[in-house]
Amino acid sequence: MSNKWKFFWIASFAAVVFFQACGMHSWEELLVSTTDEKKMGREFDSLVRDRHKDVMQSGEELFTPQNEAQQELYDYYRARGKEIVNAIDKKDIEALLPSASARLCRNNPDNRNETIVCTKDNFFEFKIIKSKQLNAFAVPGGYVYFYTEILKENNTRGNGFRSESELMSVLGHEVGHVVLHHSRESIVKQAAAAGVIGILLGDGIGAVLASLGANFWLLGNSRDNESEADVKGFEYTNKIGISSEGLSDFFARGLKSYDPVTGKCSEEKEGSLFDAFSTHPPSCERVNNNRKRMEAVNQNYLKDRPGEKFTDLVKAAGI
Ligand SMILES: [Zn+2]
Repeated sequence: MSNKWKFFWIASFAAVVFFQACGMHSWEELLVSTTDEKKMGREFDSLVRDRHKDVMQSGEELFTPQNEAQQELYDYYRARGKEIVNAIDKKDIEALLPSASARLCRNNPDNRNETIVCTKDNFFEFKIIKSKQLNAFAVPGGYVYFYTEILKENNTRGNGFRSESELMSVLGHEVGHVVLHHSRESIVKQAAAAGVIGILLGDGIGAVLASLGANFWLLGNSRDNESEADVKGFEYTNKIGISSEGLSDFFARGLKSYDPVTGKCSEEKEGSLFDAFSTHPPSCERVNNNRKRMEAVNQNYLKDRPGEKFTDLVKAAGI
C-alpha cells in the first residue's frame, strides 16, 4: 500500500472515530451544527413574522386563525404534522436536536423570546402563510410552511389538495427534507461554490447566509434531494396507515402531459410544468417511483380517513 493510501485510510478512520466521539453524523455537521440549523430556522421565521421582503412577497403574511373554523383547520393541520413527526425514526430525530445546553426552541409560539431546550415534541413548527403561491417548503431547524393556496382544493387554478393523503404526503416530503438535513447540504455546497467555505469555518453561518441572501432557503432543491424526500415521505404515510397516493395525485396534476394509464409524459411537454410547487418540481419519474413504492408494499390505505374531512375544514375556514 502506498503512503498516500495509508494516509487516506488512517485519515478516514480518524474522521469516523472523531464524528462518533462528538456524536456527529456527517462531515457537514462540522461546518453547520444542529444548533446552527435551529438558529437559522428561527432567524428565517422571524423574517416571515415580520413580512420581510426578502422572504415574503407583497400581500403575504403569516396566517393566524380569526375564527373558530379557521382555528379548527389550523389545529387539524398541525396535528397532521405532529403525526408525521411521530413517525420519524428515533435516530433520525435525535440527529436533528441541538445539544441539550442550547435553549433554542420556542416555549410559546406567541412569545418569540421565551425559549426552552428542543425536544422531539417541540422541535418542528408547522405554519401557514396567506399567499397566492402554490407551494410548501421547509427550512433548517424544523420550520415547515404551507401557503394557503396549496391547501385549497378550489383555488383559482383548481389544483390544491383534494384529500388528506395529498396533505399528508406533502407534509411527509417536507419533514423528509428536514430529517435528511438537505438545507445543510445545500448551504455547504453553495458556500463551496461561492468560495466562502472559509467564512463558514471562520465567521460562521451568519456571515455565509448574509453573503448568499435571506431567500436562499426558497431556492429549489436538487433532483436527488427531491427523490430522497419523497422516499422519506412515503415511509411516514405508510407507517401511519394513510394512502401515499396523494403524492402521485398532486404531482400528476402538475404535469400537463401525464398519462395515468401509461405513466408517461410526452417528451416535448415534460418541461412545461406549471409554476406549482416550484421548489419541489414534479416529474413523471417521481410520480411513477411513488406508485412503484406503493405496489412494492401492496399499499391499499384510504386517501381520507374516517372523521373530519380536511377539504371540508378548508372550505369552512374560508381561507
Ligand atoms: Zn422537496
